[in-house]
Parts: sequence; C-alpha cells; structure tokens
Amino acid sequence: MKFTDQKVIITGGTRGLGRAASLAFLGEGARVQATYRGNEEAAEELRSLAGENAERLTLTRCDVSQEDQVNAFWEEIGDQPVSVLINNAGIRRDALLPLMGIADWQSVIDTNLTGGFLMSRGAVKNMLGQRYGRILFVTSPAGRVGFQGQTNYGASKAGQIGLTRSLCKEVASRGITVNCVSPGFIATELLDDLPEDLIREYKKSVPARRFGKPEEVAAALLFLASSDAAYINGTTLEVAGGI
Ligand code: NDP
Repeated sequence: MKFTDQKVIITGGTRGLGRAASLAFLGEGARVQATYRGNEEAAEELRSLAGENAERLTLTRCDVSQEDQVNAFWEEIGDQPVSVLINNAGIRRDALLPLMGIADWQSVIDTNLTGGFLMSRGAVKNMLGQRYGRILFVTSPAGRVGFQGQTNYGASKAGQIGLTRSLCKEVASRGITVNCVSPGFIATELLDDLPEDLIREYKKSVPARRFGKPEEVAAALLFLASSDAAYINGTTLEVAGGI
C-alpha cells in the first residue's frame, strides 16, 4: 500500500486511462479525487467498480479548460495536502490542417495544454508548503513523432512536455517532481472513432503488435508518483510497446 493517506487527483479519472489509474491508486491505499467534464454515468460506473475502496473516492465535475472551474476546484481543496496530480484529461479533434477549424484547434489546446497549466498552478501552490509533490502529465507520441491529422493534438502534447521540462526546474528544490508518461495506442473510447483499416495499420506499426491496456499505463503512473521516483524529474516515460 504505497499511497496510504496520500491524496491523489486524477483529471479525466473516470474513463479510459484515467479510470484504470483511479482504480490502481485506490488499490494502493490512496484517497483519489477523480474529475470529469460531464459524463455522470461513467463517473458512477467508476464508483461501483471501486467496490469497498469507493469510500476513498471523490468524484468531481470540473472542466479543466475553464479557469473559473479550476480555481473553484482548488479553493474547495483548500489546505488539504495533495501528494499527486495526474493531468490526464484529454481530447482529440482530428482533421488535416487546411480543413481544421479554429474551434477544433482551440478546444484541444484548451483542454490538453491550458487545462494542465491551470491544474498544475493550483497543485504547485498546494505542494510548495509541504515540500513534497508529484505532478504527472499523460502526453502522447503524437507530441514527439507526430501523426497526420493531429496538428492540434500533437502541438498540445509537445506543449505538455515543454511545460514539464520548465516546471520541474522551478520546483525541484522543494521536493516536487514533474514528469510525463507517454502511452502509445491504448484501447479506450478515445480511439473509438478510428476506422478499422487505420487501426490495423497502427497495430502493424507497433513493434509489440498490439494496443496497450490502460492498466499498463497506470503501472507507470504509480511508479513515477511514488516516493521511490524522487530523483526522476522532467522526463518522459514511454509506455508505447516500442513505437
Ligand atoms: P477517454 O476519452 O477514454 O477519457 C477522457 C477522460 O477525460 C474522461 O474522463 C473525460 O470526462 C475527461 N475529460 C475530457 N475533457 C475534459 C475536460 N475539459 N475537463 C475535464 N475532464 C475532461 O480518453 P483516454 O483515457 O484514452 O485518454 C486519457 C489521456 O491519455 C488523454 O490525455 C489522451 O490524450 C492520452 N493518451 C491516450 C492514448 C490512447 O491511445 N487512448 C494514447 C496516448 C495518450 P467525461 O467522461 O466527462 O467526458
């Protein structure tokens, strides 16, 4: 039980990778606060999956792209010490660049990048006094290698890595680490709209020849969020089957 008595905040913690992370941290004794944008049904489903650990689970509706909602979120946290923030909430709105509308560009940047900035700002203020903290971003190979149709998503994910590299230097002396986990193709609802032929092509491009499981990403998050990872700072751990 590596996280007993630790408060862990996971944005987008109710579905997909975030849900697996919420369950994994609950399994290690953490008090988990999982946020989501609007899907109440998925949030309640997580509560039932958590079983008896649900008494350590808080579900909070908070759109990370909205500054007023994020500020209200941290006001409610107040002086409760937060040990871990996982910036996991993310969306895709794919289109080739000449066809990409500003709304699709902006919503992806606002959620994936600005949302991570806003949540991290609250977390750093909370963690500085404790001289301890773990901030993690769930980024993507899209930010490093890039994929067609994902200029918005790739820019947001590369931005998360740049934010991580800078922020870790601001807070390292206070016992706070900031790192990224970069999952490859993981079977979640985020990929539901991909056509079958593209899924086959993507699978062939993965040396492991399969998509990953949300639990395999959660395992990396558990490690980087633990006190064992105290000297790992500003890095990106790829969980991508060799991509
Ligand atoms: P899902 O679509 O399965 O889940 C997304 C979660 O994020 C939901 O809980 C959703 O809430 C929440 N969310 C979305 N927008 C917001 C917002 N504005 N404010 C708060 N919460 C929000 O996605 P995945 O689990 O697949 O992805 C999680 C992260 O992993 C993302 O950052 C994604 O970019 C990254 N990633 C995913 C990969 C994959 O192959 N699946 C690969 C690499 C990276 P609600 O249920 O209310 O909509």
